[in-house]
Amino acid sequence: AKKLGKNNYCFFESTGENFIKNKLDLINDLAKAIHNEEFELYYQPKIDVKTMSLVGMEALIRWNHPKLGTIHPNQFIPLAEKTGQIVKIDQWVLKNACMQNKQWQKENYTPMAISINISAINLNHAQLVEKVEGVLEETGLAPGYLELEITESTIIHNIDYASRMIRELQKLGVKISMDDFGTGYASISNIKKIHLDTVKIDKDFIMDLHKDTANKAIVATMISMANTLGVNVIAEGVEEKSQLEFLKKVNCDQVQGYLFSKPLSGKLFKERWLVKQS
Ligand code: C2E
Ligand code: CA
Ligand code: CA
Ligand code: CA
Repeated sequence: AKKLGKNNYCFFESTGENFIKNKLDLINDLAKAIHNEEFELYYQPKIDVKTMSLVGMEALIRWNHPKLGTIHPNQFIPLAEKTGQIVKIDQWVLKNACMQNKQWQKENYTPMAISINISAINLNHAQLVEKVEGVLEETGLAPGYLELEITESTIIHNIDYASRMIRELQKLGVKISMDDFGTGYASISNIKKIHLDTVKIDKDFIMDLHKDTANKAIVATMISMANTLGVNVIAEGVEEKSQLEFLKKVNCDQVQGYLFSKPLSGKLFKERWLVKQS
C-alpha cells in the first residue's frame, strides 16, 4: 500500500488490477479493526548511549488490514483523529502495551518502561487520567514502567491545560516525554513550566545532521538545554554510526533508530532484545 495524496488513501495492486480504497471505506474498516483484532503493536528499542544497552521501548501501532496488508500509522492515525476513532485506538494501545509489558515482567525479563504515543484529542479528553489509572490497575503494571509520549505541538497548543494534565498524570507515577521536540517551537520557559521527564529530538533533525554545521549546533543546543534542566534526552531516527558518534559527543542520553533496530513484532522484540533477570 502506498500513499497517493490527500484524498485517495491506499493504493493496492493485485492480479494486475489497481484498486483504490477510498476514505469512506477505510473509515468503515477502521471501525471493525479493533473488533476484528487487526491492530498489532511493534516495539522499537531505546538504547542508553553510555552503556549501549536496552533501557526502554516504544510501542508503535500497525494495522494488519485483511485486504491491504500492513498499513502504517501515518496512513490512518490522522484520519482516525478526524473521525474521533483515535479515542478507541489509543485506549486499545494503552491497554495492550501495559499488558505486554506486564507479561514480559512476569516472564522474568529485566523490567523497563514502555512508551506509547498519545494523540492530541486524548490529552484533551478529561478522562485520560482516569483511563490510565484504570488500565494500570487492570493490568497490574507499576506506573513507573509506563511513559506517555506527547508531541511538542500538542503541548504548546494549550500549554496551561497540557501542563495541568501532565502534572496529574505524573502524580499517578507515569513518565511524560515530549515527542517531536524541536518541531513545535517550545521555548525554554515553556519547557521549564511543564516538568517533563524526557524530551525526544525529532528524527528530522537527526537525519539532517550531516548537511551542515547549523544542524549540529541546533541539536547540540537542544541537548544542552535539556541537560541544564535535568531532563532526560533521547534522539530518534538514528540510522548512521556518524550520527551516534555526534550524539555521544554532545551528551545525548539515549538513542533510537534503524542503526539499532526497526520496530519489531512482540515475538521478535522479545527474542532479539529482552534479557532475563539474573
Ligand atoms: P513518532 O512517534 O515520531 O515515531 C517515530 C517514527 O519513526 C515511527 O514510525 C518509527 O517506526 C520511525 N522510525 C524509527 N526509527 C527510525 C529511523 O531510524 N529512520 C526512520 N526513517 N524512521 C524511523 P511509525 O511507526 O510509522 O509511526 C509514525 C507516527 O505515527 C509516530 O511518529 C506517531 O506519531 C504515530 N503513531 C504510531 N503509533 C501510534 C499509536 O499507537 N498511537 C498514536 N496516537 N500514534 C501513533
Ligand atoms: Ca513517538
Ligand atoms: Ca518524531
Ligand atoms: Ca542528561
